[in-house]
Amino acid sequence: MPKAQETVLEIDLKALKHNFEYLKSKLNDTTKFLAVVKAFAYGNDANTIAKSLESLNIDYFAVAYTNEGIALRKAGIKTPILVLHPLSANFSAIIEHRLEPSLYSLKIFDAFLSAASKNNQTNYPVHIKFNTGLNRLGFNEYDVDEIVSKLNNTVAIHATSIFSHLAASEDLAEKVFTLKQINSFKNISKSIIEKLNYKPLFHLCNTSGILNYPEAHFDMVRSGIGLYGFGNSKKENKHLNPIATLKTVISQIHTIKRGDSVGYNRGFKSDSDQKIATLPIGHADGIGRQYGQGNGFVFINNKRAPIIGNVCMDMIMVNVTDIDCNEGDEVIVFGQNASAEDLAETANTISYELITAISQRIKRIILR
Ligand SMILES: *Cc1c(COP(=O)(O)O)cnc(C)c1O
Repeated sequence: MPKAQETVLEIDLKALKHNFEYLKSKLNDTTKFLAVVKAFAYGNDANTIAKSLESLNIDYFAVAYTNEGIALRKAGIKTPILVLHPLSANFSAIIEHRLEPSLYSLKIFDAFLSAASKNNQTNYPVHIKFNTGLNRLGFNEYDVDEIVSKLNNTVAIHATSIFSHLAASEDLAEKVFTLKQINSFKNISKSIIEKLNYKPLFHLCNTSGILNYPEAHFDMVRSGIGLYGFGNSKKENKHLNPIATLKTVISQIHTIKRGDSVGYNRGFKSDSDQKIATLPIGHADGIGRQYGQGNGFVFINNKRAPIIGNVCMDMIMVNVTDIDCNEGDEVIVFGQNASAEDLAETANTISYELITAISQRIKRIILR
């Protein structure tokens, strides 16, 4: 691929296909696959990712908010789209764009039922979310009877699926807790199968759930981070390819003397003669101030260059004293051989936060 001449996020659709096939190889033939494409497909490019997965016969998409689903519909996505976190104010737009809401509380359930009825809908697809321990969104196990009775007594909505979400599927030290969640979800499923007049799909696992709890795949799994190339463990990372490479260039090189300072508030003070490079990427692009002060680093000609001083809004300065480099040279912030997980760790965060933060002002380049 050509060398970067400005800051770009390259997105490799072959890597996406590889990750999809690897995750799919963990499933039974009949288990459906939902791709989580919220937050611009984790900072990548939701329309491009969704179109690519649609061509690979993905079964379902999920987004967090309604406007993310509307954007996918406007881009021509026809596959069903689950909206994980709708609010009452979104219901007419949801129906207009044929999006499928997660109903997670009585208030939201009743409000959507009433909106669907007023709209003369029959069998409008909805998804019922249960809380099995994350304590974020969802009905509780003791709500089953009330929900089932409401579902059995309406033709306006149809529970296409019943789902829950694991709190610590990547953390094997919390295995006992996760098994408790799986068991609670099994009890909910059993009770619903007994009482509901029809059979919905059941789903529980996110990426690490798919990889660590094969017994809990049920009818469908939901993967986000795995599709984008991260397995939340060294072992699984070997099988996955990060789809995004964040590249930039050296705008300028300065040589500074002992006692000189670099950047706002003189965040770096030099104790010797040094060579520093200025790069066109900053906290407004998603490289937060936590990466400054020597914590984070980038790669220039395969060598690590630490980010020195304070991260500016549109620039960072890196120490290149020991690196043979020139103005205009390509810089890798993260990518297939420069793990975003490792960079995220230097700022005490996780790959999810680093990649979803990459700002929309950075040009996306799609590699097909
Ligand atoms: C974001 C999200 C996922 C995807 O999780 P990954 O760890 O990225 O695979 C799945 N389910 C729900 C409910 C989510 O909010």
